[in-house]
Amino acid sequence: MNVERIKVKLPVKRPKFVNLYLLVNGKCLIDGGPIETSFVNTLSKKLGEVKDVLITHHHVDHIGLAMLNSVEVYMHPIELKLVEHSYNIDTYTKWARSYGIDIRYLKSFTWLSRGLALKSKIKFVENGETLFRLKVIAMPGHSPGRIGFYPDKILFSGDAILSKTTTYIELYPGYQNPLKDHLRTLDRVRQMEKWK
Ligand SMILES: [Zn+2]
Repeated sequence: MNVERIKVKLPVKRPKFVNLYLLVNGKCLIDGGPIETSFVNTLSKKLGEVKDVLITHHHVDHIGLAMLNSVEVYMHPIELKLVEHSYNIDTYTKWARSYGIDIRYLKSFTWLSRGLALKSKIKFVENGETLFRLKVIAMPGHSPGRIGFYPDKILFSGDAILSKTTTYIELYPGYQNPLKDHLRTLDRVRQMEKWK
């Protein structure tokens, strides 16, 4: 499979960058980079023909192109719910309060806003489906509806493994044991040799 890695610098200390992957004939992209207008404009110019964006999970550094541009987006339904939860300041504030979090801390979450929603057309995908010759694999833990894409011998895993550190595990509404799921997902990745 012909793959081009697009390494995008992030405006935070860690992680320093995020990887997007342009596939096959240059028309299909895995992950959408940060929610940042200038980044999305630059990327859109560069990747003019990209129409299909496959989203591993809803995090702020993976979904920019889907939030700010109009493309065809493929993602798991749980992740769409988390988009609605994570970027809406009213919903997020209510949830943070229920955990006793001082909402002054939320001011540093610059992506929280009113009315920010996916502009794209959404198509839901589930574990086991095949999409653009990629097998869709459930990889919960880092995010409950995260999916990986597995063409053959490569796994596009959306933050399953980071260099020098581990991915963070956090709480989401209704999500009982993210750490257990994360460890199971890592075991599954370790078993990849047996998938062939
Ligand atoms: Zn992430």
